[in-house]
Amino acid sequence: MSFDKQAQHIALILSDVDGVLTDGGVIFDNEGIETKRFHIRDGLGIKLWQKAGLQFGIVTGRSSNIVQIRAKELNIQVVRQGFEEKLSVVREVIAQSQLSAEQVCYIGDDLPDLPVMQHVGLSATVADAAVDVRKAASFVSECRGGYGAVRDLIECILRAQGRWTEIVQRFSTTSS
Ligand SMILES: [Mg+2]
Repeated sequence: MSFDKQAQHIALILSDVDGVLTDGGVIFDNEGIETKRFHIRDGLGIKLWQKAGLQFGIVTGRSSNIVQIRAKELNIQVVRQGFEEKLSVVREVIAQSQLSAEQVCYIGDDLPDLPVMQHVGLSATVADAAVDVRKAASFVSECRGGYGAVRDLIECILRAQGRWTEIVQRFSTTSS
């Protein structure tokens, strides 16, 4: 099935964090507190996606406070941290959202993401993902993880759904 066809039905995007919403780097301070770097364009993309009445969630194998803070900032309700085996938690999230797997897009970057990518309606990844993940994905962003790949995915889905032009128009000022 083509990307445009798969994208029509997507109502929920679930995203991995490390290597997707970040460049995969994890920084520890002297107290052992973990920090990560997020991209502002991904943030706006997530907000626009939500504003279009669609859902966004996070599923990550690691667990850190910084992810909670970023999720809160972006009003992301679905945040599942500390699940190395992601498929069962994704199944649970899909059931709770009362959606079918065909309505869900998952974006990941490494081997633990493969089972989820094979389960959902649209599988996506970043430009610098693991080779096998790039091979398995229906959508490979031209952007690297942490450099706007999620924004790119959101734009492409909304374009396929015929909603992107209207969103851009909201940002254009009309002079009269
Ligand atoms: Mg990852």
